[in-house]
Amino acid sequence: MLKMTGIRKSFFLGGEEQMVLNQINLSVNEGDFVAILGPSGSGKSTLMNMIGCLDTPTGGEYSLSQQNVQELSEKELAAIRNKEIGFVFQQFHLLPRLSARLNVELPLVYAGLPAKERERRATDMLARVGLEERMEHLPSQLSGGQQQRVAIARAMVTEPTILLADEPTGALDQKTGKQIMSLFHQLNQEGKSIIMITHDPEIAKNAGRVFHILDGHLREEEAGC
Ligand code: ADP
Ligand code: MG
Repeated sequence: MLKMTGIRKSFFLGGEEQMVLNQINLSVNEGDFVAILGPSGSGKSTLMNMIGCLDTPTGGEYSLSQQNVQELSEKELAAIRNKEIGFVFQQFHLLPRLSARLNVELPLVYAGLPAKERERRATDMLARVGLEERMEHLPSQLSGGQQQRVAIARAMVTEPTILLADEPTGALDQKTGKQIMSLFHQLNQEGKSIIMITHDPEIAKNAGRVFHILDGHLREEEAGC
């Protein structure tokens, strides 16, 4: 489903090349629940941005759903991003003046769906994340955990191939973080492929496959460790 081979990423700072990721190999299959662990500044978000086609590698090969990402134009990249990837961030990124339901409908507005169909899909998705009683609330009227549920519903409503989450529990207390993790677990059990980035080993334990980024390299933990 997703395959990275020998991926490198460097940034140029003051004329000097800084290698952030070096020779990254990563294969993700349908139904996988992957956690990527690493200390702050190790390149987790940089990797997530490349997986999500928000940024391009300096070198190496990346294919996503049988397409060679390097060969795609900006327009094709935007299309693959909208179709294949659902993004969830640490800071929820909800629009404050829109209700939970309208936030979830937004990607469907961009996709050009009629209003009735949008409402039906957003309502179903919000019920799936346990927010049937909160659909017409504004983000400011919801707790952090509920806001993250709205963000997850918004990421899922277009039925993406992969759910990509960058520190999704980073802004939540421990108990709420655990509840969000069981939601990801439930979505994975229902068949969704998930890649989650975290710096918290406790959070990573929920995933089926655990990777570590260190010194620019990505290494998978052996199963059962
Ligand atoms: P993490 O998410 O693991 O905390 P990041 O991927 O955000 O780490 O950053 C990894 C390294 O890459 C850091 O040293 C950061 O300063 C550098 N970096 C990230 N994005 C850029 C950029 N656009 N330009 C220059 N350096 C960057
Ligand atoms: Mg980060």
